Amino acid sequence: MLKTNLFSLRGKLRLFAEPFVRRAAERAEGPEGPEGPEGPEGVKEASDRDESVLAFVTRRFGPEAARRAAAPALIGVYAGDAATLSMRAALPRLAAMEREHGSVLRALLRRRGAPGLGKAISFPDGLGELPRALAAGFRGERVNARAISIEPIAPAIDGRRWRVGTEPGPTIEVERLILATPAAASAALLDPHAPHAASALRAIRHAPVAVVCLGFRGGGDLGMDLDAYGFVAARGEGLQLLGCQYDSSVFPGRAPVGGVLLRALLGGAFDPALVDADDDIISGQAIGDLRRAAGLRRDPDFVDVWRARPGIPQYDLDHGARARTVDAAIARLPGLFVIGNALRGVGLVDCIRAASDLTASFGA
Ligand SMILES: Cc1cc2nc3c(=O)[nH]c(=O)nc-3n(C[C@H](O)[C@H](O)[C@H](O)COP(=O)(O)OP(=O)(O)OC[C@H]3O[C@@H](n4cnc5c(N)ncnc54)[C@H](O)[C@@H]3O)c2cc1C
Repeated sequence: MLKTNLFSLRGKLRLFAEPFVRRAAERAEGPEGPEGPEGPEGVKEASDRDESVLAFVTRRFGPEAARRAAAPALIGVYAGDAATLSMRAALPRLAAMEREHGSVLRALLRRRGAPGLGKAISFPDGLGELPRALAAGFRGERVNARAISIEPIAPAIDGRRWRVGTEPGPTIEVERLILATPAAASAALLDPHAPHAASALRAIRHAPVAVVCLGFRGGGDLGMDLDAYGFVAARGEGLQLLGCQYDSSVFPGRAPVGGVLLRALLGGAFDPALVDADDDIISGQAIGDLRRAAGLRRDPDFVDVWRARPGIPQYDLDHGARARTVDAAIARLPGLFVIGNALRGVGLVDCIRAASDLTASFGA
């Protein structure tokens, strides 16, 4: 942090003054007049309400840290805009650090060495190993079909409380039904039984993402410093590229010996229409931006474009209220549960945690 040229000296001083900035509620209730390094502006906007990630980071760490660190980080996780994403929903742990410790930096220093700030992980054969292992380890009956309808069985027969219609496939009767489908699919299934939950799920915006995989055979300098995880690009730098992960630098075995695999991301909340463009346009943009931003000077030997639609859920300022609406409606339907990335975290770890917490609550 001290050595980086990402921030000006003034920006760094402001960043390290964070422990002296009073927490939102205190500041709202405190005496009038300039308080803390932010001055009167910060006092005016401080409150205990939810706020955007950009507003939170500006308030605590100053505008440079918000624009140059927080906003790009949010692009990396949500392909989203820090000015619209909710602090409490998108970064709940950081929001809690302010509430519980009065300072994010102080909380981070206290938890140094504690688990949870680990490095990126995957599987030797790629992330596809995870669903394959889950499928192989599943002990029940597996039906490879799309759920098209659900209906309660009332009164329950032999403990079975829900009937699921599938296409193509049989009708399944179960004791507990967990919808782990994307928000739109869950909304369609819930519509007849919990219309409020269905509308809340439908209201969650998604940001589509185009992923451009670029492969380079060994031999020949790419012109890029590949001793890195990759980068995310702040908006306003003249790049359409959201970021690029240097896959073969991060995970072993992702490219033949000496080769390089890069994974560039485009589109997102800033440019959703780009995801609908032809492969050549999207990959051309990725390659052009990598030349400009990272010094790439070779053409790739392999290009593949993959589109994530509807993409990554965006936890807007209304997200907490939407999640509570879903929870309240589902609580009235015994034996039915809804999880998935639209509700309690978009990261895989959050999705796994939500699923584990749910099954643990069954005593399974
Ligand atoms: C480009 C991109 C990069 C990402 N990178 C990372 C990363 O580096 N780290 C990280 O932690 N997270 C990352 N994520 C986020 C993470 O991958 C997702 O949030 C997570 O995989 C979502 O898991 P899920 O089980 O909720 O949904 P999904 O993985 O979308 O699973 C939903 C499943 O439901 C099935 N389905 C849909 N409709 C029906 C139906 N009617 N009946 C039955 N089944 C149905 C679908 O086929 C699908 O298999 C990334 C996301 C994207 C788009």
